[in-house]
This record gives sequence, structure tokens and C-alpha cells, in this order.
Amino acid sequence: MVSYKDLGLVNTREMFAKAIKGGYAVPAFNFNNMEQLQAIIKAAAEEKSPVILQVSKGARNYANATLLRYMAQGAVAYAKELGWEHPQIVLHLDHGDSFELCKDCIDNGFSSVMIDGSHLPYEENVALTKKVVDYAHKYDVTVEGELGVLAGVEDEVSSDHHTYTDPEEVIDFAQRTGCDSLAISIGTSHGAYKFTPEQCTRDPKTGKLVPPPLAFNVLDAVMEKLPGFPIVLHGSSSVPQEYVDIINEYGGKLPDAIGIPEEELRKAAKSAVCKINIDSDSRLAMTAAVRKIFHDKPGEFDPRKYLGPARDEMERLYKHKIEKVLGSNGKAE
Ligand SMILES: [Zn+2]
Repeated sequence: MVSYKDLGLVNTREMFAKAIKGGYAVPAFNFNNMEQLQAIIKAAAEEKSPVILQVSKGARNYANATLLRYMAQGAVAYAKELGWEHPQIVLHLDHGDSFELCKDCIDNGFSSVMIDGSHLPYEENVALTKKVVDYAHKYDVTVEGELGVLAGVEDEVSSDHHTYTDPEEVIDFAQRTGCDSLAISIGTSHGAYKFTPEQCTRDPKTGKLVPPPLAFNVLDAVMEKLPGFPIVLHGSSSVPQEYVDIINEYGGKLPDAIGIPEEELRKAAKSAVCKINIDSDSRLAMTAAVRKIFHDKPGEFDPRKYLGPARDEMERLYKHKIEKVLGSNGKAE
């Protein structure tokens, strides 16, 4: 058993309580490799922003579970080295799909886990989430549950359509499971193709797609049922068009990739939404930077020469999200 406390990590309890009170959201950035982790930690340390290092099942298999634990521990030490005296860093399992996986993460230094039973019948979701909560709370690990189904693809989690969270279910779910936060579905979506062109309108001036608005009425109804309860938004990348354009210009093919407008996320961050998940945007930043270098310098074959600039681009992106979208800068001095 490796406790997250020994790794210098924290759980989400106090972090979320402060975020709701302060009207901002904590960024949850997914990572799979060293460059992403460096960029996340540098951005968070310089911005003094609490941060959630988020790892999916696929990322854990990709990076190796043991190596990952040491990377998280190293992230805390690196943050201190960068002058962040009291780093507020969470290591979180994204979309845990079984009790066994959640237990394995808890036993190996994770400070927070998500159990995603949203695809199950309601009573089975309750039972599975409660089982994970009962185990996690023994070790002071926090648990995120999910109600409602998001559209899109994330790792092995995929769905053709979304089903908004039913606000009538949230009190019962939170009380019976004892979960610490709840991911809800209000129209955000996984991946870089969050909406089909048919679901969007076109801006007559630019010809760009404009996505349908998020269902803030569902969020409002959930907040009314569970005042002050931490709410999580998945699938909240904005799919910056400048990255999509660079990728397409330099040999990529991402037609009609579209995300959630940042002004909608800014609005959500001021509410009980205290964790916003961003993954695709950093993938796009990295890919755009690498594609451009491969085009501009075809003779380059030192990975540091293309992964280094990709890392810098991700750092810029993370800082932008922290400062301009989530408002979490300066909240973890
Ligand atoms: Zn997700």
C-alpha cells in the first residue's frame, strides 16, 4: 500500500470547497508522458494554481502504473523546486470502470478516483459507486461519480449520444453513494469532434461552425437540488481553431473539429462546477507544434527539438486555461 500522502499529494475535498466558495474551477489535465507532465507542473507552479493530474486507464497502461506513481511523486518535488512552496496536486483516475481498477489506484498512490457507472442501470451505478466510496474513504481518497451520459470517445469510453443528467436523481445518488463530487452531462462531449456539423450553425462571416449551447438549465437544477456540492464537467476542451488550422495546414486532417466555447466554460467555472476536464486541447497543441516543426525542419530528428517546443506550447495553453478560463491562478499559494 502506497499512500498518496507519502507522495506529497492531496485529495480534492478542501480544494473543491475552496473553488466553489471562490467562484473558480480547478483544472484537470490528462497526461500520458513526461513532456505533458512537465508542462502541467510548470504552468501550475508559476500560476500557483491547484491542479489535478488526470490519468485514464489507457494512460496508465501506456505509461506503466509503477512509473506513473513515481512521476507523480517527482511532480511534487519538481513543483517545489520551481518555487511552489505548498503544491496542491491531486493524482486522479479518470473514468475508472471497475472496483478493482479503483482499488489498485488507491493502493498505488492516487489521491482521488472516478468510478464511471454512468452507462449502467441507475441502481447498479449506485451500488458500484458506493462500493468504491466505502473503500476509498478508509484511506481518505476522494471519489467522483457520474450521472448522465456524455457523447464522444475517451479511451474505451464512448457513446453516440448524450443523455442529460436527471436533476431528480442527484440527491438520492449523492446521499446513497457518499461520493465527493459528481460529473454531470449538460452537453459537453469527449474528443475533438464534440458536435456534428448538423448540430451546429455556421457563422455567416467566418464560415466556422458554432456549437449548440450547453444546458445551463440542467446545471442550475442540479445546483438547486444539491447546494454547494462539487460538480465536474468532462469533455470541456475548446478545440482552439488556431491549432486545428496549423495541423490541417501542415499535413493533418481534422475537418470540422469543434469544442466548447471558452465563454461557456468561464460561466460554468463561476458556479458549483469546480473541476473542468481538459485533454483534447493539449493533444492538439502538441500535435500542431510537432507537425509544424516536421514541416519547417525536415532534417530534424532529435526528439528534444520537436517535443521541447511542443511542451512549451502546452505550457502556454495550460496557463491560458488557468488564467483566462478557470480563474484558478493564485488560489494555491
Ligand atoms: Zn471524461
